[in-house]
Amino acid sequence: MSTKKQTKKTKAYIPREQWPFIEVLADEFYRSFEGVEVYAAEIIPQQTNVLLKFAQKKLPTLEGLEHAKRIRRVPGADKLQVLLCLASALPEQELTSLFATQELESVQVVTVSISKYAPLNREQYEAWNKSWPLTFREDTRLDPKFSQEDFDTIRSNISLLDHTTVVCRIVDPATNQVMAEERDSRDSHPLHHAVINSIDVVAQKERELAGGVGRMKRAANQMVGEEEETQKSRYLCTGYDIYITYEPCAMCAMALVHSRVARVFYNIPSKTGALGTNYKIHAHPSLNHHYRVFKNILDVSDVLDSTLVDQEL
Ligand SMILES: [Zn+2]
Repeated sequence: MSTKKQTKKTKAYIPREQWPFIEVLADEFYRSFEGVEVYAAEIIPQQTNVLLKFAQKKLPTLEGLEHAKRIRRVPGADKLQVLLCLASALPEQELTSLFATQELESVQVVTVSISKYAPLNREQYEAWNKSWPLTFREDTRLDPKFSQEDFDTIRSNISLLDHTTVVCRIVDPATNQVMAEERDSRDSHPLHHAVINSIDVVAQKERELAGGVGRMKRAANQMVGEEEETQKSRYLCTGYDIYITYEPCAMCAMALVHSRVARVFYNIPSKTGALGTNYKIHAHPSLNHHYRVFKNILDVSDVLDSTLVDQEL
C-alpha cells in the first residue's frame, strides 16, 4: 500500500564545482588581493556617533569602497575601528589637526589596508575579508545552469566533431537542431575559418527563408518588438550554442559577438585563441554583447591521438 509519489519534472542543476568543464570567466574573477590604504580611527564605542558625524562633515567621502564595512571591532579590546577616508586623500597630520579642532584629540589614527575591489565569489571574499571585513552576498541568479542531461547533450555534440582539425557546429538549444557544421578551409581562402564558414551557412539558410519569416527573425522580433525588426533580424545566431574543437581566434570570436551567440563550448585551447588564452573577447567590457565560454569539455585523449595534441592549428 504505497502512496504514489508525484514526480516533479524540475531539472536538478549541478553546482559549479562539479561541472565536467571549466567556464572561462573575466579576469576579475581570478583577481588576487589588491589593497588600498585607508585611515581608521580607533575609538571606544561611545564615540561612534560623534566620529561618524565628524567624518561626514569634514572628510573626503570613501567612494568606491562601499563593499567594506565601516566599523570593525578590535579583537580582545573594547574598542572599535571606524573607516575615515583614503590615506591618499589627505596627509595624516592634517587629519590629526582636524581631530584637535573637534575635541577628538584622544582618538588614535591607524592606517589599514582594505581590498580595493568588491569580492565576486566566495573564494575572494574569504581571502580578502581577512584584512578588513567586507560585505558579500553570493548571487548565483545569473550563473549558467546545467543539468546532467545538458552535460550529456554538450558532450555528445562535441565528441562527434573531428578533432584533427578545427570544426564548428552551431546548434539551436531550443530544438537541438544542428544549424551548421563546417570545418576550417583556409587553404582555399585565408578568412575561411570554421566559425566564419559555419555562420555563413546559417546566413545562407536565412536567406533561403527570406520569403517567410524565419525562426531567427521570429525569435528576434519576440525579444525586441516589431519596430526594431529590420535591425535585430541581422543577428543571425541569437541564442545559439557553438561547439568547436579548438579555441577560436580573435576574428572568429568577434564574429560570434556580432552574431549574438549565447554559449561557446570549445575543447582545446589554441595558441592564437581569443577566448581565454590571449584575450577574453567574450567578456570584454566595451563590447555590447557577451556570451558564456566553456572549455576542456572532453579529455583530449578521448578525441585525439596523443601525437596530434601539440600540433599548431
Ligand atoms: Zn578563426
